[in-house]
Amino acid sequence: MEFSDKVVIITGGSSGIGFAAARLFQAAGAQVVLVGRNQGRLDRAIEQLGNKAFGISADVSLSGGTQKAVSQTIEKFGRLDILINNAGVSIPNETDLETFSEESFDETINLNFRSVFLMTKYAIPYLLASLGNVVNVSSRLGIKPLKDDAFIYASSKAAVNMFTKAMALNYIQKGVRFNAVCPGATDTPLLRNVFDNSEEFSSYVHSTPLGRIAMPEDIAHTILFLASEKAAYITGGIYPVDAGASI
Ligand code: NDP
Repeated sequence: MEFSDKVVIITGGSSGIGFAAARLFQAAGAQVVLVGRNQGRLDRAIEQLGNKAFGISADVSLSGGTQKAVSQTIEKFGRLDILINNAGVSIPNETDLETFSEESFDETINLNFRSVFLMTKYAIPYLLASLGNVVNVSSRLGIKPLKDDAFIYASSKAAVNMFTKAMALNYIQKGVRFNAVCPGATDTPLLRNVFDNSEEFSSYVHSTPLGRIAMPEDIAHTILFLASEKAAYITGGIYPVDAGASI
């Protein structure tokens, strides 16, 4: 896949799935823009990418953060071709509706769904100009929820999936594509943070369909395919990358 001269924003590009995607996009010739809150984490990621990526420190759950991410990208590169809405959060122990706080609800929805709306809203004029595309990083739980766990997280990702379809329908004739990738369990700090200890994590890994969880690159390859010219006829698609867990 070829991304020469393409400018790609990846929210949450300093860690996990977003960082794996950044590495692959850069190797395929793209100019990569990483967005995250923590400057130290951004600096480390950029160093690992050979100091060729551009970092923007911004909170994408806030309107100001998303406007900053888009405007600094345009100031620096003059265009935007691909938006990867990847930043997300999963609050541990989301197992009981009665104890799940309103603050945790807001944190989940504001990052997992509102940021996707805001980034898309501010990026769309530039994506229309470049006939670009958007890949949203959702979750297999947005397709099929779990019993007794992650119900607001799953709902936030279901909203991302429907937003992806609605945007695809609205922008197909204007030349901008929208797709979503729905990862299963993937070895990143987000997933490890959900478990109380390493034994719990290992026993979870063994219970998955293939007896192993995804590596971030397993998800990133699908993101790149959907963002590429090879997927020119694909829009509004919701793609599980989960070893069958959502069946
Ligand atoms: P990580 O925890 O490894 O990375 C999250 C990234 O998001 C970091 O770069 C973090 O940087 C950034 N981020 C977090 N909050 C904000 C914010 N408010 N504004 C800007 N950036 C932010 O996560 P994953 O790679 O695991 O997750 C990526 C996506 O994949 C998420 O949407 C997640 O829901 C989804 N997913 C993950 C699965 C998994 O098992 N790992 C399974 C299914 C879906 P910083 O903290 O510095 O801001």
